[in-house]
Amino acid sequence: MPKSHKLSRRRFVTTAMSAAAVSSLVVPEVFGRVAKSRPSAGATNLSDGSLTDAPPWKDQAIENLAKSPYAKLRQIPVHAVTIKTGFWGQRREINVSKSIPTMHDLLEANGRMNNFRRLAGKSDAAQSGPVFSDSDVYKWTEAVGFALQSGDLPDVRRMAEKAIDEVVAVQEPDGYLNTYYVEDRESLRMTPQTQSTGHELYNIGHMLQGSIAYYRATGDRKLLDAGIRFVNDFLLPNYGPAPKKPIVSGHPEIEMGLIELYRITGDKRQLELAGYILQGDERAKFPERRTIYMFSGTPFTARTKLEGHAVRAMYACCGATDYYMETGDAAYWKTLNTLWQDMVSTKMYVSGGVGSRSDGEAFGDAYELPNFRAYGESCAAIGNMMWNWRMLSATGDAKFTDVIERALYNGINSGMSLDGTLYCYRNPLAFDPSTGDKIRNPWYDVTCCPPNLERTFASLPGYFYSTSRDGIYLHLYDNSELDWHLEDGTGLKITQKANYPWDGEVEVAVTPAKPLDFIFHLRIPGWADTAQVSVNGKAVAGVKQGEYLPIERRWAAGDVIRLRMEMPPQVLEANPRVADDTGRVALQRGPLVYCMEGLDQPNGVELADVALDLGQKPASQFQSEYLKDMLGGMVILRHKGVAYQRPTSGNGLYSRYSGQPARTRQIPLTFIPYYAWANRQATEMQVWTPLSNA
Ligand SMILES: [Zn+2]
Repeated sequence: MPKSHKLSRRRFVTTAMSAAAVSSLVVPEVFGRVAKSRPSAGATNLSDGSLTDAPPWKDQAIENLAKSPYAKLRQIPVHAVTIKTGFWGQRREINVSKSIPTMHDLLEANGRMNNFRRLAGKSDAAQSGPVFSDSDVYKWTEAVGFALQSGDLPDVRRMAEKAIDEVVAVQEPDGYLNTYYVEDRESLRMTPQTQSTGHELYNIGHMLQGSIAYYRATGDRKLLDAGIRFVNDFLLPNYGPAPKKPIVSGHPEIEMGLIELYRITGDKRQLELAGYILQGDERAKFPERRTIYMFSGTPFTARTKLEGHAVRAMYACCGATDYYMETGDAAYWKTLNTLWQDMVSTKMYVSGGVGSRSDGEAFGDAYELPNFRAYGESCAAIGNMMWNWRMLSATGDAKFTDVIERALYNGINSGMSLDGTLYCYRNPLAFDPSTGDKIRNPWYDVTCCPPNLERTFASLPGYFYSTSRDGIYLHLYDNSELDWHLEDGTGLKITQKANYPWDGEVEVAVTPAKPLDFIFHLRIPGWADTAQVSVNGKAVAGVKQGEYLPIERRWAAGDVIRLRMEMPPQVLEANPRVADDTGRVALQRGPLVYCMEGLDQPNGVELADVALDLGQKPASQFQSEYLKDMLGGMVILRHKGVAYQRPTSGNGLYSRYSGQPARTRQIPLTFIPYYAWANRQATEMQVWTPLSNA
């Protein structure tokens, strides 16, 4: 890694401190009475520790950017959007009725809660699961928190209340909380080595996110206060710049947690510590291969490409974007854009998945995007969405929304079975069941992905809109109702009627509490070659794909925007440097990437022997058909193809090229959306299909 941009430790600390000194003048104004009522740096008296009421807890969004100086958009609370019957409505209903409750039972059955009970003298069970097992409980709590923001679920809430009681019961007097580094392992706590591999801060980062989501749903601070105690009583006094002890983020996550905590406490030290961690603590020395893998431990702003463990890299980018939105640090912004460009131009699957190597669960080199061996961890696709959500919040730029949508509908959505009880850890783009790989499972000993998917679907309403100083942004389409307000406080209701992603017509009824001039920023997806927009039947000019269309007018009750996007199947080819995709194409319709499953093809045909016969006019001969009873209802695509008739034996691994055209027969090929693969019996799958030269 180039060292030329590396800030010296002393210079960074000086910069951070002077920035803090300047910005501390802003704190009282920004955080109002919170900052005034907070005791000066040092021990925190939690009984007096008030939290921001700007906005009040129940009106805080996925991220509370209400006072973030470098965020262009403000997120809106999850409760402000009700997703109705439709694509996501169905998914989200299963998430709360099946996924979240069954995951609770699996966390129990696999000893995750007994890890806490044992320390409280209430269980004899041995410690169970890997070092990051506590995070499974916290991520599940976050899923519950987001689910409860959409409405009460008494049974699920009671499960979470019980889990929270059991967690906080084992917090130690100095604030430390972890079920692994106890007893014989206590001496290993927070050593630089343990910080690099032991996930103590990763666990707490998830605890902070989980407790904040739960607090925003219920106003219940119990878990949040435990998180504040860990940060304020244990972390801040002991870890950070000298003379404190070194701190390193072995698996980035704490950065996001600390900054979101800062956004409700107004305690600048939490933001500063996140910045210090992002810059890397020079006293904690690790081999270069380790800091690459961790995507941490060296200055974030010296990074020039995505590499190392994909989830770590994505979470680090999330934390760094959060840091940028609070500080406006230009070096961060430059690095974030460099890394984003590196990802979308060389390292992201067409599914929005990232991290192609199973070895180290890592980003590969540029264009290293194998299909069968694709790793594409569900968590990495989620991290990609979370990072782009932050980049979108910082800028209002629709190129980030395109990545969100690509990851959400494809590489994330594939991660959970349609019945909500089985999960993919890997999300490959081709699959052969004869390898014995079982791709969907109810539980993994490393069970990071299932609760991560649950929290993502539970939080989804919070991704539909944002507000800006000049109006409102619509990001995602589905049957839904927004009941919120513009930044000047004017009430605003928006009703979307759509059959998205099957159909590209979206009707948007806009109802401000009083007639008002503002801009409605309507997203036109990057895939929408043909889109038309009208307001009250009158065409709106200036529609550009991959941008937000700013519709500026005096809006009044009864106004209706109609967005019409044609959704023909689109044929995509990959950069020729992607060796696995040479001579192949992928299909996309609207936001959905398609794949072929073996069982939908004519009997006896293997996917290795098929090719798509596109002829001279690619995409002109697809048949789209909505099948109500197919895998929850979906549009399938059909097209003519060929099956190669090859000798079944005798050719071995290699044979002499004959120069003769291969013998083929025509067959129909059937494609289903990629997210729905592996929901029937085990069968072959591929996203990238060879083209026939017939
Ligand atoms: Zn995972």
